Amino acid sequence: MFEPFLPKKFCREFVEIKGYSGQLVMIMATIKGIKPCMDDWIPVNRLKAYNNICASYGLFVEPDTIFDVVKKTDLPMGIVGRERLTTTTAFGLPLNQPRVNSAVHVFVAKTKNNLDKALRNGWYPLIIKNRVIDKPLIDAFKFGHDLGYPACCVAFFRKYNNWNKYSHLYEILKNTPQGKHPFLCNPFTKDVTYSYIYHMPCSYDCAKTLSLTKKIRSAIYEEEPELVRNIDRHLKLPLLVFYERKFYAFEGEIKNKRIYYKNVYFIGQMPENNLYEADLKRGDCVFLEGKDTVILKRGRAIKRIKWQKKQFAPETPFIIQFN
Ligand SMILES: [Zn+2]
Repeated sequence: MFEPFLPKKFCREFVEIKGYSGQLVMIMATIKGIKPCMDDWIPVNRLKAYNNICASYGLFVEPDTIFDVVKKTDLPMGIVGRERLTTTTAFGLPLNQPRVNSAVHVFVAKTKNNLDKALRNGWYPLIIKNRVIDKPLIDAFKFGHDLGYPACCVAFFRKYNNWNKYSHLYEILKNTPQGKHPFLCNPFTKDVTYSYIYHMPCSYDCAKTLSLTKKIRSAIYEEEPELVRNIDRHLKLPLLVFYERKFYAFEGEIKNKRIYYKNVYFIGQMPENNLYEADLKRGDCVFLEGKDTVILKRGRAIKRIKWQKKQFAPETPFIIQFN
């Protein structure tokens, strides 16, 4: 599970040049004309080759700027608005001044018009003279639209993607009819290749998202049926979710609100948040008791993860399986 995927033919060059298969589905959806535009990250020394591959698929590329990614803790404390920065923090460099390990943020689209729009709206907040210059909400809203996200989901994102106040993923659950979460609406695997969407839906049963993912799924099936079979399988794994950057997928099944499993994978992207994998690996069943998480091994409790109040990125754990 969660191995990188190398297509037989369609878009194989992208995986080869990037060295990983993240965003593969988004590239495919852009080539197929379903997604109007996407953004991507390319090591500076591979940009030229990337441009050539895009051209061979009829795509336009526009570089934004070079990002030299740094840890948030490396930023000086005195910056006004520091606490409002997103999870991506980087020093920006002009295209002709790359540093080792830096990557170019690029926009990719099938038409020049879509490319221009995304380039205008897809900028990150900047620190200028010790002060964070925030992106106006309207630009974020337009950018969501430029990337082909449904308006209902963009509106929901604007309201609940506030890490000082909400667990966005839990708010989506609250907005989902009980027990209705079709696998085509699963956003949890979006950073690990096996997903049809790259946005947070407004509900785990969002009709607009479903009609979008159905289109993407059948377009990919025409080219790489094996990839579709793989994605579908990953989308149906049981999940234990804490917040947007801390959640686990399991090979197993849910019975009576408990996950019985034989394998566990941390897919929350930030390794420093992977606090429970070792304990989960020792166990074979996990469930929630109130907001506490309990891990069992052959029916005996081996660990209780006490819920803690957090000022930033609040956690409301839940268990879910898309079907
Ligand atoms: Zn929606």
